[in-house]
Amino acid sequence: MTKASDRDDPLTTGLIHHAYRPPAGFGAVPPAVHKASTVIFATAAALRARDWKSKSGYTYGLHGTPTTFTLEARIAALEGGRHTVLAPSGLAAIALVNLALLKSGDELLLPANVYGPSKELARQELAHWGITHRLYDPMDAAALATMIGPQTRLVWIEAAGSVTMEFPDMAALVAACRARGVTSALDNTWGAGVAFAPFDCGIDISMQALTKYPSGGADVLMGAVTTLDEALHLRLSATHMRLGLGIGANDAEFVLRSLPTLALRYAAQDAAARRLAAWWQQRKEIAQLLHPAFVGSPGHAHWAATCRAAAGLFSVVFDARYTTAQVDAFVDALRLFKIGYSWAGPVSLVVPYDLALLRGPQAALGKGTLVRFSLGLESADDLIADCEQALRSLG
Ligand SMILES: *Cc1c(COP(=O)(O)O)cnc(C)c1O
Repeated sequence: MTKASDRDDPLTTGLIHHAYRPPAGFGAVPPAVHKASTVIFATAAALRARDWKSKSGYTYGLHGTPTTFTLEARIAALEGGRHTVLAPSGLAAIALVNLALLKSGDELLLPANVYGPSKELARQELAHWGITHRLYDPMDAAALATMIGPQTRLVWIEAAGSVTMEFPDMAALVAACRARGVTSALDNTWGAGVAFAPFDCGIDISMQALTKYPSGGADVLMGAVTTLDEALHLRLSATHMRLGLGIGANDAEFVLRSLPTLALRYAAQDAAARRLAAWWQQRKEIAQLLHPAFVGSPGHAHWAATCRAAAGLFSVVFDARYTTAQVDAFVDALRLFKIGYSWAGPVSLVVPYDLALLRGPQAALGKGTLVRFSLGLESADDLIADCEQALRSLG
């Protein structure tokens, strides 16, 4: 910006085209938060030469700022990938991958235990646009290999699966996709880049809801799509730009502030969840514990072969002798665990699910009511005491 001239109005122009510039040499631990819709070009020639793809410069706030480029680079490092694009929620990031890679006539394959809203997106929007989908059994890679047909373009993988926590043989699922030239996309929200290195498993795309562990504050919604392959990244980032999926500078600031404590929080919530899950395993009220780090939980051997940690999440299936109303009374009696979606924030949460409604009648799991626990940062002793007192309301 040019300096205001003496002829410019001091109450308007003079307040906008002011000569003061903050010193470039200002050093501080946190990165600066840059906000912009407009990015100013020095000359008309610079505007004409603009290039949003290479990230060699800035063109418009929607296409990135120094703050969002910093966050993208850090998420790419966390995931062990090369390129990241950011979206306004985890679900928006899932939608971005689908819209960038699928067109009318294509088929999408989703695991039967996929994150629920991802299935609804396929059932509603994608179906309206002529994109079909089928559900595959994530614990049967051979079945996936036979399901992949000439129209199949994209396979989503989740490890562990939402709510029921089955841990798949990712290498075998990816091999089935590779053998047929189909792109594989991992919903890596559970692993968060901490539990395992997603690209070592051979997947093409890693998506995660930064809403969960990377934010850690229960106050930000954001998603990230990370790739190793440059051509795939350019396809995703072109669709990202055309859809206008920008994120707010203050949300990027919150995630940047939380990333340095990600590994500490992940380890603390993992340890607390395993203590609580071990306590539940001894209780006669439950028929099944679903936590991939526990022997007997579906896919435990795959978890053990793949992971160095686990998220602070597990589910218990109450014995079928307890009605949904009784389990709800237990949930309502919890004092510290709050009832609500999402996870990885400071407050521990529970959500009751009806297994039959969630997975349909073929579910290999039991019939009882399931409660998912997500561990916050409270004392594990207090959380165990909370469950113990609430069980008295089970009747
Ligand atoms: C929460 C979540 C998402 C979606 O994230 P939002 O930011 O809430 O849209 C996607 N996948 C999984 C597995 C999740 O837990």
